[in-house]
Amino acid sequence: MKKIIFSVLVCTFLSCQENRPHGNQYKLPELTPNNLLIGSLNENRSSYRVSFYDINIDFDIEEKSLDGFVIIKAESIRDLNKLQIDLAENLSIKKVTHRNEELSFSRELDAVLIDFTSTIKKGSMFEFTVFYHGVPQNADNPPWAGGFTWSKDKEGRDWIAVSCEGEGARIWWPNKDHITTEGDSVRMVYTVPSEMVAVGNGTLRNVITNDDKSTYEWFVSNPINNYNISVQIGNYVAVQDTFIKDNTIHNMNHYVLDYNKELASNYFTQSKEVIRFYEKYFGDYQWYEDGYKLIEVPYLGMEHQSAVTYGNGFSIYNGVRSKSWPMYGVIDPLIIHETGHEWFGNSVTASDPTHIWIHEGLQVYSESIYFEDKFDSYEVGVHYLNTIKDRIVNEIPIVGRENENHWALHGDTYMKGAWVMHTLRSVINNDDVWFQILKEFMVENAKGFANTSDFFAKVAEKTNKDYWYFAEQYLYTPNQPKLEYYQTDNDFYYRWNNVNKNFIMPLDLLVNGEVVRVSPSSEYQSFKISKHSQVEIMNWKFYVEPVQMN
Ligand SMILES: [Zn+2]
Repeated sequence: MKKIIFSVLVCTFLSCQENRPHGNQYKLPELTPNNLLIGSLNENRSSYRVSFYDINIDFDIEEKSLDGFVIIKAESIRDLNKLQIDLAENLSIKKVTHRNEELSFSRELDAVLIDFTSTIKKGSMFEFTVFYHGVPQNADNPPWAGGFTWSKDKEGRDWIAVSCEGEGARIWWPNKDHITTEGDSVRMVYTVPSEMVAVGNGTLRNVITNDDKSTYEWFVSNPINNYNISVQIGNYVAVQDTFIKDNTIHNMNHYVLDYNKELASNYFTQSKEVIRFYEKYFGDYQWYEDGYKLIEVPYLGMEHQSAVTYGNGFSIYNGVRSKSWPMYGVIDPLIIHETGHEWFGNSVTASDPTHIWIHEGLQVYSESIYFEDKFDSYEVGVHYLNTIKDRIVNEIPIVGRENENHWALHGDTYMKGAWVMHTLRSVINNDDVWFQILKEFMVENAKGFANTSDFFAKVAEKTNKDYWYFAEQYLYTPNQPKLEYYQTDNDFYYRWNNVNKNFIMPLDLLVNGEVVRVSPSSEYQSFKISKHSQVEIMNWKFYVEPVQMN
């Protein structure tokens, strides 16, 4: 335990500062009562399925507070008298109603247990409304430590945004706050001072202005992760663009601060190339009905579905993120990363946040494929992966415990996750099959949920081989395989160390410039070489550590 805590601290101060947006997690969540209530689908949560959230919030910007109600439409999975929803305990509940009747409720940490006065029969559609208000938590370091960012734009005007991946949507509105709970659709009705614009996900349906307040109605007509639902408030203007696919014109209505309109109208066009790339390799964009837009925010950015937030300074080289992730000067790192999450995370969602390498590891890996495709060069893709390699720390397994609200957003989920995928491609050694695996996994799980087993089931289906030993090593332990080797005048000796007993990964060596595939085990094996042969461990294709033994 001590070792884990120490390593997490190291991660905090060193590598995680260089993580991708929203990638920091300072410690593994303890198995606290709150994480049990929020992390598992206990009987008071599994008894119903949410079909629709109708979110209504009036923002008091001076007080940094909100006052709202959320109508939750749901279907009962079995007879129920009680259910759990979730709302951060610092927010107050005024009342809960069902059919114009006030319901009694009790609160336990972030959970709210609501009692119904009569049994809701299995298979019924029902709705209830939660009225609440309060001051939501501030974002200490958005998007890594999320909450509300109450900021000012360059002209000193208010500029507000929320980010809550990991913290959970319950920090600002009541919902069933589990990663597998997505409304089939969501309405967001945000009331703000009339000189400001409130931007949510999906499409804008209506704006009503009364005196000094304006109400913006946004609608998402697709399933959406709770943490993706967002609000941005500022002196926004729309930047209209279109995306043409198969002779159909789709609207892209970006939102930026008024003084950045001209800049953004040129700069944001690169998002179209990103969408085309992801469609080519990972299947169709899933949210055309809801559009795609970038929204300028006062923090780095987040993957809010159909409303990707952007705060990288409109600069390929000089944005905050661009400096640490220059991306060969061909794409804004925020735009590609957060837009890619429309596939990895928003469409295919981890079925428990401990499997979130499916969002982040695959996302970072996909960026290497983008460069491979863009430059028509496998080597550039490898170069990209090499630029992130030294951020891997190998202290915490990429996949941790399920049902404990463990958002495994530490650095290795990103960088090592990408290297794990790169290594698996090398092991499979058949690019046609590899790219089919990726695309079919994404297409077959689109708008759905998947975990590590699901991914490796697809790998087994396409290769007729069981690679679970590979997952166990690379995803369920923090240990990087070591290839211990030495050579004599006549022989080259090699063996695995630091691996699970069942680890049987083949590995490519470069012997005098020729690729030779070997199957190391924990015992030394050897092959014949001539004197002065040069043997290289191909650790640019396999995430292994070569260790020369004397
Ligand atoms: Zn990400």
